[in-house]
Parts: sequence; C-alpha cells; structure tokens
Amino acid sequence: MTKLIDGKKIAEEIMRDIKAKVTSLEQKPGLALLLVGDNPASLSYVRAKKRGCAATGIVSTLLEFPTALKESELLAKIEDLNQDPSINGILVQLPLPPHIDEKKVMLAIDPKKDVDGFHPLNVGKMLLGDSSGLLPCTPQGIKVLLEKSQIAVAGKHVVIIGRSNIVGKPLAAILMQKKPGCNATVTICHSRTENLLAIARSADILVAAIGSPHFVGPHMIKPGAVLIDVGINRANGKIVGDVDFEAALPIVSQITPVPGGVGPMTIAMLLQNTCKHRF
Ligand code: NDP
Repeated sequence: MTKLIDGKKIAEEIMRDIKAKVTSLEQKPGLALLLVGDNPASLSYVRAKKRGCAATGIVSTLLEFPTALKESELLAKIEDLNQDPSINGILVQLPLPPHIDEKKVMLAIDPKKDVDGFHPLNVGKMLLGDSSGLLPCTPQGIKVLLEKSQIAVAGKHVVIIGRSNIVGKPLAAILMQKKPGCNATVTICHSRTENLLAIARSADILVAAIGSPHFVGPHMIKPGAVLIDVGINRANGKIVGDVDFEAALPIVSQITPVPGGVGPMTIAMLLQNTCKHRF
C-alpha cells in the first residue's frame, strides 16, 4: 500500500462532483477574486483558484488593483459585490498592503459570500459546530482529506504545529467537534511551546503548519503516525513543505506530499464553499 495521501486525486474527484452539479444549474455560481498589489505568490494562488473555477464551470472574475488602492475603495467594491446576485463568493487574497485593515475588510464581506470562512460570524459558527456557516478552506480540506483516506480521527491525538487564524486554530476547532469525522484530542503547538519534540512524538496525526522548510524531521515523528504537511515554502526555486519528506517517509504510515497534498484540497473546498448556497 502506498503511503502517499494523494490530495490532487481526491481534490479532482471533488471537483468532478462540483462540475456535475454546476452543469445542471442554469445560472452558474460566480466567484469574485480580489487581488491588491503585485505579490507574486498571491498572484499564483489567485491564478490556481481561477483555474479551479474554469475546471468546474464556476464563473470567476479576477479584479486586480494597484498597491496604492485606498481602503475605502476596496470596501466600496466589496459592497457592490455583496449586492450583486451573480456573485456567490467573494475572496480577498491576503496579505493586503499595510495601509488596509484586514479585519475591516473581512467584516465587510457578506458572511454568506465569505468563501474563505474568515468573517467572525463564520468563525463563531465553526466553533459552535453550526454547519450553516462557511468553513475555512485549508482546515476543512485537511478534514476531508483524512476522511476520504479512511484515516480515523476519533479519539486520536492530533498535534498541530502552528496556531494561525487560517490553519492551526480553525483546524483544532474543526477536529475537536462532536461530529462524524472529528472527535479528536487536539494539542496545538507554537513558537513558545515547551517540549515540542516530545509532544510532536506523541501525535497519532501530526500536522505541520509552520512555514519553515524541513522543520519536522524524523526525530519528531512517532513510528506509524500520519503526517499532514501544510507548508508551502519556496526554496532554491522549488516548492517544499514543512516536513523533511524523504527522512519522514520510512517512519510514517501515511503522508501528504508537497506539492499535491493539502494545496489542491484548499482549492476544492473554496469551490465547494462558492456553491454551498446554490446546490
Ligand atoms: P503563520 O506564519 O501565520 O503561522 C505559523 C505558525 O507556526 C505560528 O503559530 C508560529 O508560532 C508557528 N511557529 C513558527 N516557528 C515555530 C517554531 N520554531 N516552533 C513552533 N512553532 C513555530 O503561517 P500560516 O498558518 O499562514 O501558514 C503556515 C504554512 O502553511 C505556510 O508555509 C503557508 O504558506 C502554508 N499554507 C498552505 C496552505 C495550503 O493550501 N496548503 C494554505 C495556508 C497556508 P507563533 O504563533 O508563536 O508565532
């Protein structure tokens, strides 16, 4: 049995399912992608999201703005999109330039169109386990990846390294829910954690969401553990994760590659969120 968790293949299956449903809709779902500035990584993420839309029949509109865009102009654009019935999802690519307040921008998006799941109303619903909200794409993608790979989470010790608002914190909130596919015992680690090594080694499922190439080495992994590598780092012209993949492979029972693991699932969940209120 292969140890690789093929996120690309699983994401493609999900996208085929979305495409079949979108095909049957007369008015296709619409996703607005807002990009401020010319950060090359942001541009490549937005392009990948646009390709995902094209593959599933979702109509995407890329709105590009200069770095000098005023906060008030961005908020006005979001308000237009909130009112536009052809738009089901609004995604503002982060990070924004420092003169624009990300919190204000997230609050301005209609929670029903908040396909990133970052609006406080959706964050609150996620914590409460209220499934009427939209869940953040990367953590939800990890949950679905585990489910589709038949990796049992209930009762397992999941250790997440990283406590960001977009990955670590929401993943902990999702996997600890009293719901099918969840019920994990979750520990979060961060840069102030003591005994990180020992905690990581106690994980049945170890999630690396740090942003540091090769941070997780074999000394941090319990034999037979499942390893989920969220990291996307550019090193020597290559994309690498947070895990020393080659060294980890002999120890783990299953592992996500980078690229081709969590990344494609993030996009599949974005497309699913865009269609949530349409299917
Ligand atoms: P952040 O920089 O927001 O968070 C990184 C976290 O790692 C922080 O909680 C930080 O701790 C922790 N950390 C940093 N150094 C250490 C250390 N030495 N020991 C323990 N913990 C440490 O990153 P993100 O969550 O936004 O992203 C993490 C990675 O995932 C990045 O590589 C990013 O590119 C990638 N990513 C991938 C996605 C995908 O679709 N595959 C989607 C989103 C992100 P502290 O809080 O104490 O500073």
